[in-house]
Amino acid sequence: MAGGIINMEDCIFCKIVRGEIPCKNIYDDDNFIAFLDVNPKSEGHSLIVSKKHYKTLLDMPSSLGGELLDAVKKVGLDLIKENNAEGFNLIVNNGEVAGQIVHHVHVHIIPRKKGDGVIIGDGKKLKDREVLDANA
Ligand code: AMP
Ligand code: ZN
Repeated sequence: MAGGIINMEDCIFCKIVRGEIPCKNIYDDDNFIAFLDVNPKSEGHSLIVSKKHYKTLLDMPSSLGGELLDAVKKVGLDLIKENNAEGFNLIVNNGEVAGQIVHHVHVHIIPRKKGDGVIIGDGKKLKDREVLDANA
């Protein structure tokens, strides 16, 4: 897989976790940190990143799931307050085919406001609803 093999020394998010690259840190616990995305889709767009290097969610131990969800809720709530948002999108891209560019598991939290014009995904559907219903 082109660009898929990245070791921890070269991984940009490992470098952020080790403090070798600066970030706008907004959260820190035993196993996760969160910081602002450098190329945000909306005000406050942030990433929750595991402190250990796991490539995708499939590689991350499920035992960290509860802590990750806690982090999502805390960071999500903070971002709503700080940005006067009303909700947020949660996105995890797993694999290049799904749009993963940084091969270190991370959760996007994208604060949303009514009428903000943010587009998530390309809107393509697998098939028309009628076709799906006919196939069911
Ligand atoms: P993904 O497509 O899910 O792999 O998204 C990677 C995200 O990481 C993108 O939204 C980038 O803007 C973001 N990103 C890349 N490098 C940095 C960095 N040094 N600090 C903050 N965000 C970054
Ligand atoms: Zn890494």
